[in-house]
Order: sequence, then C-alpha cells, then structure tokens
Amino acid sequence: MTPGPAAAQPSQPSRPAQRTLFVSDVHLDVRAPESQRQFLDFLHTEATSAGALYILGDLFETWVGDDAEDGEPVLDALAALTDRGIACFLLHGNRDFLLGQQFCDRTGCRLLPDPVAMELGGERVLLTHGDALCTDDHAYQELRTVVRAGAWQRRFLDLPLAARSLLASEARAGSHAHTTRTTPTIMDVNGQAVERAFRATRARRLIHGHTHRPAVHDALIEGRPVQRIVLGAWYEQGSYLLHQGGRYELRTLPR
Ligand code: MN
Repeated sequence: MTPGPAAAQPSQPSRPAQRTLFVSDVHLDVRAPESQRQFLDFLHTEATSAGALYILGDLFETWVGDDAEDGEPVLDALAALTDRGIACFLLHGNRDFLLGQQFCDRTGCRLLPDPVAMELGGERVLLTHGDALCTDDHAYQELRTVVRAGAWQRRFLDLPLAARSLLASEARAGSHAHTTRTTPTIMDVNGQAVERAFRATRARRLIHGHTHRPAVHDALIEGRPVQRIVLGAWYEQGSYLLHQGGRYELRTLPR
C-alpha cells in the first residue's frame, strides 16, 4: 500500500499549551523560612514547566537596595530559571520598590513598569501590584508619592546599608501600626480606581495582588465584561495564578 501525501507527513507532536504563572506578595523574609522554602520549591518545580513567570510585587518583605545581598537562594533559583529560557518579569511592590538593575542583571528578571498592559490569549491584560488602586488610604498614598520619587530614592540609597536597614524596620513598624488602626475596607482597592483602570486601558482583565484577598471578581463596564483577579499572599500558604489554554485558575499550595 502506498501511503497518501497526508500519511507521508510526520505527525506533529502535540505541544502542551503554554503555561503562564503569576505570583505576588511572597514577602520573603529571613524570619519566615517556611515561605522561602515553599517559594524555592515552586521555582524548582511548577515554574520550570512555564513559559513565563510574572512576579507582581512584594517578592521581598523588605528591600533596602540591590547591594544588601538578601535572599541569595531565591536569586540563584530565579537565575537558574531564566537560564533555562523561562522569562521572568517583575513589578515593584510597596515593600520592594528599590529592586533595581543589579537585581535584574543577577537574576535575568525583567522589571516592568506598574501598571503595565500585556497580551495573553488574544486579550489585553493589565498587571499592577495593586497598592496604587487603594486610593481610599490617603495616608498611604501620600507616603507612596514621597518614596517613589527618584530624588528621594537616590538620597536613601546613598545612605550606609545599616542606616537603610534601620529606617526600613522603622517603616515596617509604622506600616504595621497604620494597617492595625485602619479600617479593612479603606485598605482594599477603590471601585472607581479599578473602573478607571479598565476604561483607560480597555483591558479585559486586571491582575493584581497587595490586598491579600485572593478572588476572581466579574463585572460589566459600559456593557463590557471584565474580570479582576486578585492574587494571594504567601504568609500562610503558597498561592499562584495559572493561565493555560485560555483559562485562568487561582491555585493554593498548602503548607
Ligand atoms: Mn503590597
């Protein structure tokens, strides 16, 4: 029997749909070794089969400059991941907004502006850490404006490492006091700020972290269906968002 032209073609191996992973608020800290162990495990297993990993801020509980030599095992694991050809993207969080070029050179991660729009599965997706959407928290927004200014950051980074670490721990204590006395709804995203972001970018989806309230929120904006996906924090368990074959799935990693 002579095979026809179709049969003569070698069959294409079926390629699994590309996996895109999103995490945020890992809050890596030497005082929380369990989170670090679990995140390293995630980087060594789940992330190795992904096409891309997006870290949407607050990877570190605190980051006082790329010269601090914090989180070496995580930096090594990120470098190993990007060496394998897995694209790793990073957004600043409110705790690690001083992650800079040296960190990127060391790990192969690429720093993205916040917010940033991307195309995924033929849809426009807006990525942000999420703190800029919490516009009801006026005290925090004032602080944010100060510390995100280039001049303030240059002055801070010029300080000796020990002084920076001291100031950062004072800031953490201040932040803790603020979140303890502030109403939870004030620290959530503001609905109008979310709507403005959808309208301005025409995004179909918005993915963010920061509020530590993992959920999928569906809404209609001018009759257009939109979805806001909130990533979870890693304090008590691992948490990530998987996009594969046009579907999004929030997953938890029990500890
Ligand atoms: Mn945050």
